Amino acid sequence: MKSLEYLDKFQNSFLEDLFDLIRIPSVTRDNKSVQEAANWLEKRLKQTADFVQQIPTQGNPVVIAEWKPQISEISAKVPTTILFYGHYDVQPPDPLDKWLSPPFEPEIRDGRIYARGVGDNKGQFFAHIAAIECMIKSNQLGAHVKLILDGEEELGSVNLDEAISIEKEFFSNIDLVIVSDGPADPTWKPTLEFGARGIVTIQLHLQTAKGDVHSGNFGGIQPNPVWDLITILKTMKDDTGKCLINGFYNDVFTPSEAALDAVKKLNRDPEVYLDQLGISYFGEEQDQPLVHRLMFRPTFNIRGFSSGSVKEKAKTIIPKEAYVELDIRLVPNQEPDKIKQLFFNHIEKLKRTNDRYKQILERCSFKSETSFYPMFTPIGLPWTEILERSIQKGFGEKPLLIPLAGGSLPLYSLYKATKKPMYIIPYAQPDEDNHAPNENMMVEWFVKGVKTSLYLLENLAK
Ligand SMILES: [Zn+2]
Repeated sequence: MKSLEYLDKFQNSFLEDLFDLIRIPSVTRDNKSVQEAANWLEKRLKQTADFVQQIPTQGNPVVIAEWKPQISEISAKVPTTILFYGHYDVQPPDPLDKWLSPPFEPEIRDGRIYARGVGDNKGQFFAHIAAIECMIKSNQLGAHVKLILDGEEELGSVNLDEAISIEKEFFSNIDLVIVSDGPADPTWKPTLEFGARGIVTIQLHLQTAKGDVHSGNFGGIQPNPVWDLITILKTMKDDTGKCLINGFYNDVFTPSEAALDAVKKLNRDPEVYLDQLGISYFGEEQDQPLVHRLMFRPTFNIRGFSSGSVKEKAKTIIPKEAYVELDIRLVPNQEPDKIKQLFFNHIEKLKRTNDRYKQILERCSFKSETSFYPMFTPIGLPWTEILERSIQKGFGEKPLLIPLAGGSLPLYSLYKATKKPMYIIPYAQPDEDNHAPNENMMVEWFVKGVKTSLYLLENLAK
């Protein structure tokens, strides 16, 4: 394949370009740097694409690009249109003192590129760009390729719907969507995922008094907001990990035979998780098999609880307020708005149950910011075989088929716009440390990613 030779020859120049992009510290809330990264991408993509545009939104711009097929093996056939999704915004780099090299000065050590945003997600989508360019330069592109680069993924892609609605035409006539994000399976096998869990977050703030007070002088009369929030939280989950909110599990999908079969083949060993996570028992729904808890079941998680102070800052007080934040992971057929509604129905029911709950909840305020729909593409579609074959050639081994990834991605916006199957193929190795200090991506995985995209583009043209 000529495009592979091109990759061999220009691999270093692709890496240099990727490094230039990484040097722009496009932390989502740093609008100036994000704009600089969008401009850089626009200019870079214009070198080979037939069409490039920045779609302005109320937040950061979305960059789109398009490459028309150069060849068609069967002249009468309509070429396949593939859409690649990636995001060019990154997480903040703190804590800075934990980095071995500065986060925005990419450095290769032991075959890994260390930098904020290299795995999440610049290195991963740049692999697609490199593959497209190898095909173009060797006159081999036989598929119609579109690319969308989000500038606000790390904040939940709140303006992605808006951007898509501005360029409706661009998102029509797409046959399949590929997302390369997140780490590959912990077993280090290449990974093909058919969907991702959704998410809803809810914040509770309970202020019970004007101020923090002496826990001796006023202990016994000033209510403690931590205990009171625990009282409320205990009504939402039982000791076996079941969520007690009425209707919470009503819409949970029943996995297909193919999905159950794929899960069986994953052969997950509980011991590996105990060891990897340093845990001695498993959480959440005790009556569900482990793999089901990992992908087929929703979770009801407390992601943070804050009040008073501890350790060297400890004071003998009754704190005046407490915050608790929930993140609820959703599985197919569960809808974020409906889950939120069920949560608030539960709150209203508590208020009617007794005066104790009522007193607490009347001082409590609620906020819900993030919500992503869950997404699931059936395993049995013909694309699966083409993708498996491309990954196998790119990585040199058969991929694991994962029915549902644990994390959440803004896939629903793309699904709504395209109504087409969507697949996740992570190009970053399992220990990429995304969102953490010393985020990294192995050069070898980057190259395997480029090759996978190359084979995919080649196979789609046939
Ligand atoms: Zn991320």
